[in-house]
Amino acid sequence: MNRLAEHPLQILDAKDLTAFMDALAAGFDLQVPLVAGDATRFGPYRKDAPCDFSQTPPAHPAKTLLLPNPEVLFRYTKDAGGRITLSEDPLDADLRVALGVRACDVRAFEALDAVFLRRGRVDTAYQARRDSLCILGMGCVAPSPLCFCDRMGSHPFDTHGMDALIIPLTGGWVLEALTERGRKVLETAASLLRAASAEEKRQVAALRTKGRERKSGAPVDFEVLAGTVAASYKDPFWETLATRCLGCGICTFVCPVCSCFTLEDTGKTLSGGRQRAWDSCMFPAFTREASGHNPREGMDRRLKQRFFHKFSYSIENGEPPGCVGCGRCVEKCPAAIDIREIVDFFSAEAPDV
Ligand code: SF4
Ligand code: SF4
Repeated sequence: MNRLAEHPLQILDAKDLTAFMDALAAGFDLQVPLVAGDATRFGPYRKDAPCDFSQTPPAHPAKTLLLPNPEVLFRYTKDAGGRITLSEDPLDADLRVALGVRACDVRAFEALDAVFLRRGRVDTAYQARRDSLCILGMGCVAPSPLCFCDRMGSHPFDTHGMDALIIPLTGGWVLEALTERGRKVLETAASLLRAASAEEKRQVAALRTKGRERKSGAPVDFEVLAGTVAASYKDPFWETLATRCLGCGICTFVCPVCSCFTLEDTGKTLSGGRQRAWDSCMFPAFTREASGHNPREGMDRRLKQRFFHKFSYSIENGEPPGCVGCGRCVEKCPAAIDIREIVDFFSAEAPDV
């Protein structure tokens, strides 16, 4: 029996972290949270580029692994004879390994799947990236006080959708393979790992229990929330909220679930392409029609769209809710609009039964 199968909990000592990432990067396209100013953003591992696994969660959502911004959809060239040739970039087929993805971001991938893989059509580029992604997730030992994943049906050590779970301990990491793919990836660095001691296993069990018992507030009843939000279209709540919202779109760009995009044509007469770029339903131009009419001219309508989509339409359509409780929008909104208060407001509107 191989070592990882015999001892599921393996320890990587802190001194071996760089060697561990080198070993993974030698075999796979390794993606890690790279330092970008005072934030982190997933990108390809390089020895000379600092990474930081301490942000819970990383400031930029891991949806960048599945939805590059921008993403070229096709390219064109026109030769001297006027013949136009279209081409697409090859699909990602080689295994990519994402190290340190948090449970909230992995949950958010399922909401993105609903948009890009279901609804009667498949986005092949998204599917290729999704299928080729091995997720070495990371538990949140010290979740941000703004995080409320536990209210949204998850918890800081949720392993749902991961190929392996990493739990930071003092002096190193505990690694546990959860799928065959995760085990094969970890085996490439097996010489750097050792079986967890009884004391380390006890620490892991204690952390997991604490994470599972985290209670940042009352669990959200999505069926109830979907109903009260759906019934709120004429509620003055939205106009009041609109007096505060700046329409900056930050909330949607940091959100791991939001997936609005626009199409842009770039290039010149002889060559160019069409690309998909992130957009935001909070921008007035997002729904402006060619005639100039805009069905969501007012900020209140755009706010309704954002929250109705997250908590009403998604549930009605049998899709995952549009919020995983990562807390990023709470932290970044310049107008201090707190989605937890919106959830609480509409959850409290539920009729007593
Ligand atoms: S970040 Fe805040 S102010 Fe900006 S669009 Fe979102 S809710 Fe409005
Ligand atoms: S709506 Fe806010 S808290 Fe919810 S997943 Fe998006 S960024 Fe995170």
